[in-house]
Amino acid sequence: MTEKPTVNHKCQCAACRASRALSTLRALPALTDSTTEALDTIDEALSVLIDDGAAGWAAMGDVAYAVGLDWPTATRRDILDAIRASSRRLAELAAALAAALAAQRWRLGTEIPDATGWYQTIEAVDCYSHAAFDGAVWQGYPDNNNPMFWRPIPPLPAETTQ
Ligand SMILES: [Zn+2]
Repeated sequence: MTEKPTVNHKCQCAACRASRALSTLRALPALTDSTTEALDTIDEALSVLIDDGAAGWAAMGDVAYAVGLDWPTATRRDILDAIRASSRRLAELAAALAAALAAQRWRLGTEIPDATGWYQTIEAVDCYSHAAFDGAVWQGYPDNNNPMFWRPIPPLPAETTQ
């Protein structure tokens, strides 16, 4: 005949310990109405605190997953570091994008390029072309006049189909 195993483990988390303490108090003989009412108040407050804690836990999980971390493995510090790193990276990318757009912006033909070479040009409204600047004048334009607008030719793709 085997003995039925008894479950003697009691959870030691704050919520379970507080709940057991409340049960102990409720089991006392001759509780007054006001004492029972006070125990009910503590019980309700405990439930609110537990729910708030669970909501905070879930919110931290959402934030952790949003920055690519596992919760609850990730620490609060890990999550904050990841958010700060993402913010820095975003600022770097925004600055790089602004610089790239500025480098490729259209210039008035009266502005002189810094370097010789080929440029995209606009000769008249809706008339796009390309032209070479030789360091002094635009080649190929009648009387070497300036184009209406010009801009650097964007970098070519790394691989072409040719
Ligand atoms: Zn517990």
